[in-house]
Amino acid sequence: MMQFQFSGRNAIVTGGTRGIGAAITRALLATGAKVTAIYGANDRAAEEFRASIDEMPSNLALAKVDVTDYQAVESFFHDFQEKLDFLVNCAGIRQDGVLAMLPQEKWRNVLDVDLTGTYHFSKFAIQRMLPARFGRIVNITSISGRMGIEGQANYAAAKAGVTAMAKSLAREVAKRKITVNCVSPGFIATDFIRELPQELVQQYTQSVPMKRFGTPEEVAAAVLFLCSEEASYITGTTLEVGGGL
Ligand code: NDP
Repeated sequence: MMQFQFSGRNAIVTGGTRGIGAAITRALLATGAKVTAIYGANDRAAEEFRASIDEMPSNLALAKVDVTDYQAVESFFHDFQEKLDFLVNCAGIRQDGVLAMLPQEKWRNVLDVDLTGTYHFSKFAIQRMLPARFGRIVNITSISGRMGIEGQANYAAAKAGVTAMAKSLAREVAKRKITVNCVSPGFIATDFIRELPQELVQQYTQSVPMKRFGTPEEVAAAVLFLCSEEASYITGTTLEVGGGL
């Protein structure tokens, strides 16, 4: 992992206790940053994650906040009294199905978590960052949002929406030295795709020029870079971590 020094920085990582988000939380902790990892429902995974942190465990806080709930997010920020340097919007779900048969519920659920959840956290985070005249927001999107994947119309639309939101927000806050970017992973080995049929996993693997799935750590490295001073002139853009997809 790259050796960034983020001592004195405070970060919030939504979906920060499992999969890609857990790797991002872990990587930020390793730089000396303090991290509040947000999760939605899985208390056991959150506690297991906390127990797995042996270096500077006091720099990690956990918060159970449903990103889809505007009032809950507002109340979380009301209680969060630290300055805020970095927000990583990583909470996400997918509920696949071909569009012709896609129930409204699956459309709404995915849009609510992946798109509206990002709006909620970005809104309150940016209110903190504006007076401080510094901040980094990194959204975890997906290659699905750029190229589309069969059975993922809801998910691809949500992720493309996040990308567009980031570009607009980047313009709104650029003068205050706040950058807003996206990291777009390809296929990454986490719980998110663990239940996919073996056949589909093979098909996806063959479609990747590097012929393998990525790791959560490879995504986390891109996030750290976008949070760094070295990335201070990069905003409104997307860094793909997709093995050449
Ligand atoms: P996981 O399913 O492993 O983890 C998802 C995380 O999001 C969990 O921490 C979960 O909390 C949290 N979460 C889900 N819904 C909510 C909610 N309503 N409120 C708060 N937190 C919530 O997913 P991944 O790590 O694989 O994916 C992380 C991100 O990366 C997602 O945005 C996904 O779209 C994106 N991505 C993943 C790819 C992959 O191949 N894995 C590829 C491209 C993008 P809890 O533990 O409580 O359920």
